[in-house]
Amino acid sequence: MQNLRDLMEQEIGELVREAGQPAYRAGQIFKWAQSGARSFDDMTDVPKSLRAFLAERCTVAPPALLKRQIARDGTRKYLWGLSDGNCIETVLMEYKHGYSVCVSTQAGCRMGCVFCASTKGGLVRNLTPGEILEQVLFAGLDAGVRISNIVLMGTGEPLDNMDAVLKFLQLVNNEKGLGIGERHISLSTSGLVDRIYALEKEALQITLSVSLHAPNNALRSQIMPVNRRWPVEELLAACRSYTAATHRRISYEYALIRGFNDTEACARELAGLLHGQLAHVNLIRLNEIEESPLKPSSTEATQRFCDILNKSGVTATVRRRLGFDIDASCGQLRRKYEQNGGV
Ligand code: SAH
Repeated sequence: MQNLRDLMEQEIGELVREAGQPAYRAGQIFKWAQSGARSFDDMTDVPKSLRAFLAERCTVAPPALLKRQIARDGTRKYLWGLSDGNCIETVLMEYKHGYSVCVSTQAGCRMGCVFCASTKGGLVRNLTPGEILEQVLFAGLDAGVRISNIVLMGTGEPLDNMDAVLKFLQLVNNEKGLGIGERHISLSTSGLVDRIYALEKEALQITLSVSLHAPNNALRSQIMPVNRRWPVEELLAACRSYTAATHRRISYEYALIRGFNDTEACARELAGLLHGQLAHVNLIRLNEIEESPLKPSSTEATQRFCDILNKSGVTATVRRRLGFDIDASCGQLRRKYEQNGGV
């Protein structure tokens, strides 16, 4: 059954016309859907006959809340059950500038990065635009807070589900809905070069994050299979083109793995690679996952790496680890749920 939250106001308009109702009803219904109506009965200013017509064709049922974990630092992690039995996870974090939600874009992932829990069971399916949006909407409603920022950094590769992601951006941007603007949204990619060029053509104001994690092909191909298809030099060429076209600074994600990519030589090589680019490096100590023997770098090695980049003129910061005590790094909760057959 069609999820009403997948539809733009104009598409709801087509249903309204089919029902022989006046066009302005579409705006009302869109607003109800995007503000968290849980059933058609909630739509009190919509005639009952139209509600019944819609209920035969669409659903507004929210995802089922399977589990909610709240970390000591206030970070909340949600595990949602979708209508077809799949489950996905969402993280809500509090920052000085407001609340941020990290959403999944796929159930599972097919990128195969060796350090990431999200990809261990492979890709199950793409999420729909409404399923991506519901994570923001219902996490915000559950916590009773207004969401100001969104990061597409949960499970899945957003550029492997690009059409749904682009539609989600339009839906979430709408003033009748959550009204969150592109400048408050970051999209992270493992580096699908052809899609980065396609995204450039969309001329969006979102922040593009690129998961680099290594300064050369020899290292990157060992941990990110996508690098064998799109090597570092092609990835960086796409990034330079993206920045030139959009004037937006790219954020490079770099997870520091002990003894693998955290040496001074790696830091200098990375600095050489990014020098002169409109770039920011986000360093994060690797989050350990059960399925991988890789370990995080020490805090000293992390700081040294950061200092080398900054001294070489490449701005870098070490990202704070939020929700550490609740397995908040992507994919770990969902993975446990799928392996144990329940929470
Ligand atoms: N598929 C996209 C977005 C999802 S992952 C991408 O690859 O960018 C969000 C970020 O978390 C990515 O930078 C990813 O490489 C990183 N990540 C995944 N597992 C991690 C781990 N165990 N420790 C640290 N970062 C991790």
